[in-house]
Parts: sequence; structure tokens; C-alpha cells
Amino acid sequence: MSPLRILVLVILFYIGYRLIAGGRKKDSRKVESDKKSRVMPSSDILEEDPICKKLVPRQQAEQLDYNGNVYYFCSKKCCEEFRALHRKK
Ligand SMILES: [Zn+2]
Repeated sequence: MSPLRILVLVILFYIGYRLIAGGRKKDSRKVESDKKSRVMPSSDILEEDPICKKLVPRQQAEQLDYNGNVYYFCSKKCCEEFRALHRKK
């Protein structure tokens, strides 16, 4: 084997290694960002919808102030139902 061939092989190995290492780095970064977006913020407190008994994150819930209490609903529909129920009384 001539020294030139060895040099070419070394360069090829180096390029191959860079491609593999570079690809791995990109993948691990992608996985990290996916993990971050999947984690729910700890401030998301679950509240029970008094109408359908579903647990709703407070930030996404429909809020209603009633007799000094705050009620949380999964949707406007449940909120309206609650209002209608308490209006009749
Ligand atoms: Zn509901």
C-alpha cells in the first residue's frame, strides 16, 4: 500500500467519523428539546369541573366567580350549565 492511499483512507475515515458524530449531536439536541416541550409546567394545578367531574388545568379552564368561590370548568358549555343550575334555585 502506498503512503498516498493510506492518507486517502485516513481522510475518508475522518470524514465518515465527522458525519456520524455530527449526526449524533443533532439527534441528541432534538431529543432534549422534545423533552422540554413535553414537560408540563409545575404551576399547572388541576381543578375539578363540578359539572362533568373532569380534571382541568387551571390555566386552560373556564373560570367563574360564584358566591365568593371560584369554579373551574373544562368548557364554556359546562360553565353555562353550572350557571343555569344555580339560577333556578
Ligand atoms: Zn366539563
